[in-house]
Amino acid sequence: MNQSLEELCSFLSNPQKIIVTMHRDPDADALGSSLGWASYLTRKGHEVTVISPTEYAANLKWLSGIEHVMIYEKAGEQVKCKRKIEQATLICCLDFSALSRLKDLGRVVADAAAPKLMIDHHLEPEHFAKWMFWDTAAAATAQLVYELVCEMENHAPAEEIFDIPMAECLYAGIMTDTGSFRHGNVTPAVHLAVAALMRTGFDSSRVHRMIYDNAPLSRLQFLGYVLSQKLTVLPQFRTAYMVLTEAELQKFNSSTGETEGIVNYGLQVENVVMSAMFIERKGEVKISFRSVGTFSVRDLASAHFSGGGHKNASGGRSEKPVNETLDYFLSILPDYQQELLNVD
Ligand code: 5GP
Ligand code: MN
Repeated sequence: MNQSLEELCSFLSNPQKIIVTMHRDPDADALGSSLGWASYLTRKGHEVTVISPTEYAANLKWLSGIEHVMIYEKAGEQVKCKRKIEQATLICCLDFSALSRLKDLGRVVADAAAPKLMIDHHLEPEHFAKWMFWDTAAAATAQLVYELVCEMENHAPAEEIFDIPMAECLYAGIMTDTGSFRHGNVTPAVHLAVAALMRTGFDSSRVHRMIYDNAPLSRLQFLGYVLSQKLTVLPQFRTAYMVLTEAELQKFNSSTGETEGIVNYGLQVENVVMSAMFIERKGEVKISFRSVGTFSVRDLASAHFSGGGHKNASGGRSEKPVNETLDYFLSILPDYQQELLNVD
């Protein structure tokens, strides 16, 4: 056990008032890792509050413990969340490493007196945390939580450390961040973690179903519309892109989360190595990027769209109108053409 972990363990040997928070618009890894970690801390006798900066997608509502998650952005919740954060003795920051990823909650966390613990796998972390369990090679934050808990429990058998709800939450994070075990981030450690979690006896097929086969009909109709009407392929740049306006989202009654994952379809087109999706929402454009192999959409997102993330999955945003944002994207593609053509 390294020194930092020893220090954390000794801090956690006394009951603490703990906040667990994750990035805005949390996905299954952000929420799954947070709820799994929160459940572990609760079991260890701490008083734990999970706060999400914003609402989360409907297909995550079944995660164990989610009914107690406070949503900072929700009317009437801010004051309660702020009070909890002021009283906290530890703030755990999961699946993000820049406070701007917390939206308005970032300021509150930055100003809080409590020490912070970061558990994350995104590149270029800010240094706001006293304890950092940060590894960009980790496939998911849930993987890091699994490893941290094993370490803290001296590698006792998994079925003694984890229970079914915890295993489901962590599995959900690992499964989604690896694209159901098909991305380049899958390592032996991923399968070993999953094998150990499965010893609790949870139903992994159900987790997959609840996340991926649990959509309202409107989401499939929306997907059909996007794929048939909104997907443009630029073979010379090996790039696919989709643009969705606020009016289109309203027409399909699409909430946050219903667009989640659609960007990946661009990569299914032969020869395409980068897919981008531009979504106009609440006066800004949210952009999602996906790529394969050597092409880094993280570099592109951070150089041009105030964003970041991972090499093959990143995001950013723009305050320009959506058509100008797209024009700008198209104007920078020639700079990346050689790199795009070079991808194996
Ligand atoms: P998504 O497209 O699913 O929203 O995001 C893909 C990845 O990029 C995630 O790992 C997410 O954390 C990261 N990401 C998305 N938007 C942003 C952003 O605005 N800034 C940074 N730094 N990362 C982002
Ligand atoms: Mn993640």
